Amino acid sequence: MGNGSSLDSSKTIYLSIAGKTEKIVLSRLCGSRDIHDLIAQAAGVSRYSEITLRDSDGALIPISPSMAKNLPSSPYEVTTTTPSLANAGDGEAFKQVLSQVTEQFTQSPNMDMLRVFKVDEMKLDLTNRINVLERRLELEGLKAVEIEKCRRDISDIKYQILNSQKKVIDFNNMRPMYYTGYYSALSDERKISLKRDVPLYPKYTLSQETVNYLKQPTFDIWDWEPNEMLSLLEHMYHELGLVTEFNINPITLKRWLLCVQENYRNNPFHNFRHCFCVTQMMYGMIHLCKLWEKMSREDLGVLLTSCICHDLDHPGYNNTYQINARTELAIRYNDISPLENHHCAVAFKILSNPECNIFANTDKEVYKRIRAAMTLLILASDMARHGEIMDCFKAKIELGFDYQDKEYLETLKMVLIKCCDISNEVRPMEVSDPWVDCLLEEYFNQSDREKMEGLPVAPFMDREKVTKPTAQIGFIKFVLIPMFETVAQLFPIIDKTMVEPLRIARDRYEHMKETSVPNTSAKKDE
Ligand SMILES: [Zn+2]
Repeated sequence: MGNGSSLDSSKTIYLSIAGKTEKIVLSRLCGSRDIHDLIAQAAGVSRYSEITLRDSDGALIPISPSMAKNLPSSPYEVTTTTPSLANAGDGEAFKQVLSQVTEQFTQSPNMDMLRVFKVDEMKLDLTNRINVLERRLELEGLKAVEIEKCRRDISDIKYQILNSQKKVIDFNNMRPMYYTGYYSALSDERKISLKRDVPLYPKYTLSQETVNYLKQPTFDIWDWEPNEMLSLLEHMYHELGLVTEFNINPITLKRWLLCVQENYRNNPFHNFRHCFCVTQMMYGMIHLCKLWEKMSREDLGVLLTSCICHDLDHPGYNNTYQINARTELAIRYNDISPLENHHCAVAFKILSNPECNIFANTDKEVYKRIRAAMTLLILASDMARHGEIMDCFKAKIELGFDYQDKEYLETLKMVLIKCCDISNEVRPMEVSDPWVDCLLEEYFNQSDREKMEGLPVAPFMDREKVTKPTAQIGFIKFVLIPMFETVAQLFPIIDKTMVEPLRIARDRYEHMKETSVPNTSAKKDE
């Protein structure tokens, strides 16, 4: 009996590997797989290689404990094949193991001992093979993730190249040199804080003329350097009595404003100058409407501070992009006003630094109220909520506006921040006109990126479809004029100071549209 004899003693097999004769000694406990692995080791190949043995006549010799002994003069010729990485290879290897197992159980070995050894050996072998397969599956999975990452990197690089080819206008030029604590609020690890203890932006002496002009919607916001804008904002807090109201440390006010400025990005539109514009318009409306007669100093502080914070760390791509591209912000805020939630979170992250907290000296209850009110106002600046907020406001006017009612005041404040946020067209043409280019530039950046990433593109952002007048006419007629007319019902002065300039702007764009040659006919003529 062959099987019996293999148990009796060790067996020497001679192999011819690449012209060299090698000797292996098989112990009586060696199974087929051990012999296979031993040959693989002698041949210097992986144990997962396929191995074929042939005798001197070219006949195939099965690799098994019962294989015939041979002599050094007639070694078995060894040929090996490296396993392929394709799945078919794994399937083949697996089939092989299975067939070996089946074979093992259909043959009925004569001795129980042998069977025990064989089963254990097969178990171990199967476990090893499964481990290898699992590891390979894991590696394949990792590879897929790596490929996805590479794709994203390539898309980012493409986008950077695209941007570098364009002229990029830095509207927030000349950041103060002494401030280096740039913070990207998208990463939570970094804390917002100032590097220098006391900010030293030059103290500007504002002329009486400037101080009066600052209260007008006609104020030229392009005339001022970033440092000057900081001084003008600082002045507003002093002039409105907010420094006294909240017992603000004047140095804290400077530090806070610097920190806010540092956390606006250099977007074509949503930058620190936009923040300044919105705040200046709010300051103008507070004076035009004498809002201190209708609301508290605390309310005025909430209005002004919300304007300053309302677009903090804006990335230059709107909510639709955030949601469609499934950005970190969209995920964090579950697609619900991701940007506005972020602006607000950054605002309070800045205020969480005691050295930048302008409300540090207010008591807990006041701080709580301010926080709730600011959150409400910043979240109201999402244009997706325009209809809802305007309907609520109009309903309250129809009922007879009650300035004593907290809810009425909240709605009014929401409408006021909305007005200021989109008030560029209220300004004189020389001031408002460059903003349209800035906005279109930011829109085109977004639509270019959306096209590159295969995301939906809004027609009003598409450089192929939009012109300056078409972009503005609908917006002025259907959003701006109705909104300011509604506010004018409560504050009649708004009609002359804000609605009238809007009508002029609308007429100007309509004239521009009539006189400009449409793109399509221009192409036909060529
Ligand atoms: Zn804004």
